[in-house]
Amino acid sequence: MSGKLAGQTGGAGLRAQDVVRLALREVAGPVLAPGTAEYDAECATHNLNCAVTPAVVVGATCEGDVREAVRFAANQGIPVAVKSAAHQIVGSADGAILITTHRMKRMSVDVEARTVRAEAGLRWSEVLPRTAELGLAPIAGSAPEVGVVGYTLGGGQSPLLGRAKGYAADHVRRLNVVTADGRLRTVTPDSEADLFWALLGGKGNFGVVTEIEFDVFPVTRFHGGGLHFSGEHLAEVLEAWRLWAPTLPGKATTSLGVQRLPDLPTLPGPLRGAFVVHVRFAHLGSADEGEQLLAPLRRAAPVLLDTVGEKPVTAIGEIHLDPVDPMPYFDRSMTLREFPQKAADTLVALTGPGSGCRLANLEIRALGGAFDREPEVPNAVSVRGIPFVLFGFAVGGGDQADDLRGQLAAVMDGFAPWAADRSMVNFLSPDEARDMEGVRAAYGPERYARLAEVKRHWDPANLFRFNHNILPG
Ligand SMILES: Cc1cc2nc3c(=O)[nH]c(=O)nc-3n(C[C@H](O)[C@H](O)[C@H](O)COP(=O)(O)OP(=O)(O)OC[C@H]3O[C@@H](n4cnc5c(N)ncnc54)[C@H](O)[C@@H]3O)c2cc1C
Repeated sequence: MSGKLAGQTGGAGLRAQDVVRLALREVAGPVLAPGTAEYDAECATHNLNCAVTPAVVVGATCEGDVREAVRFAANQGIPVAVKSAAHQIVGSADGAILITTHRMKRMSVDVEARTVRAEAGLRWSEVLPRTAELGLAPIAGSAPEVGVVGYTLGGGQSPLLGRAKGYAADHVRRLNVVTADGRLRTVTPDSEADLFWALLGGKGNFGVVTEIEFDVFPVTRFHGGGLHFSGEHLAEVLEAWRLWAPTLPGKATTSLGVQRLPDLPTLPGPLRGAFVVHVRFAHLGSADEGEQLLAPLRRAAPVLLDTVGEKPVTAIGEIHLDPVDPMPYFDRSMTLREFPQKAADTLVALTGPGSGCRLANLEIRALGGAFDREPEVPNAVSVRGIPFVLFGFAVGGGDQADDLRGQLAAVMDGFAPWAADRSMVNFLSPDEARDMEGVRAAYGPERYARLAEVKRHWDPANLFRFNHNILPG
């Protein structure tokens, strides 16, 4: 059996011989069943609280593997789950075929057209150096280890290029997708307009993307990083940030995190085990101009650690300093339609000194600029026009689930008076993605109804359901 089939098959009535057939005749990559170290490694996730336990895993190496795996699942009547860099696992994939894409790493850059073609297994950390050496940059997110396709299909909100260029989804030219009928399709605004619209914002609900083509921009450097203040100064820093953020030009982006950091040697000395306010800043312009923009924040309180400077675009991860290693956590997100003084006071009361808050991070991202602009080719990204997004997480395992979920709920509920009516699907937590009404609300009724229609057409049996699931209309 050539080592391609490992472990015992079981769940969902899968017959061992069917898996053998898949492994030996039709799929080039490994086919892994539960009970082996290879299966466990293939099911690894970034959030250790989110276990993935599919009936079988297909480690796809090419479009053909994805097509065969989806055909196999459709014939067997079992669902399909997809995993790339595993930063947003929202379901266990029980009884499903899990297609992992991390072996699919081919990419090419067309310097003249300023476009990139990237296979489904690439992370931003793998794309950024390749485009940077050609003087170009993609609309990447805060964490370079996040997968390109999952990020982009969920909108893709960049802390560097977003306010200047809009969502990553707004700059997609083409998607190669295996749909529920097992066919590989080239999806463009001209070939399959509805499917193109739905995939960009509707994410993995409509098929498995094998390759994506998107625009890149002539940006090589930026001025930015973080100003870290002691958490004792939260009220002053937050007030300065609240008044300052809306004054920034479109080429500058900011967010603020209230952080209770672990005592880790990987963190800069002043941050180890510290309670800090982290003002993130990125500016597409000169250091002189950036420093002028940043001056009001520097004056807000004594700076504990200053990492702002001129950096190559490959250092985009230094803006947010998101945690890289897998860990167990619970998270929640919401959007705000405004952030007035009272909301800032609420943030201080809920997360500031003496609040008893145990969230590792509560961050508020200021959006606006090109984030509000309708793209040339419309898509299903739902949060245009919303000025702020809030994201919080608390670190701990299942034994602390009730406590940490309670903490997160208390903080998020505190912002109910300023809540906007849609949310960013890229930030939906497992708990939020399981809430069908919440998913509907994330899009708003009209957009959701259109997505449900597209889903009914392309995936009537809901084969692709291990995500924030849009039910076939
Ligand atoms: C630390 C951190 C920082 C982040 N920062 C940002 C940010 O700045 N801006 C932003 O917009 N988002 C951000 N995100 C959210 C991130 O974009 C999403 O979590 C994204 O889905 C992660 O993709 P992945 O490949 O890593 O995850 P995975 O868990 O592998 O995939 C997540 C989902 O994406 C879909 N998907 C993935 N690959 C495919 C495919 N080939 N075909 C079809 N569907 C697919 C599926 O629905 C899958 O369930 C961040 C997340 C984390 C954890």
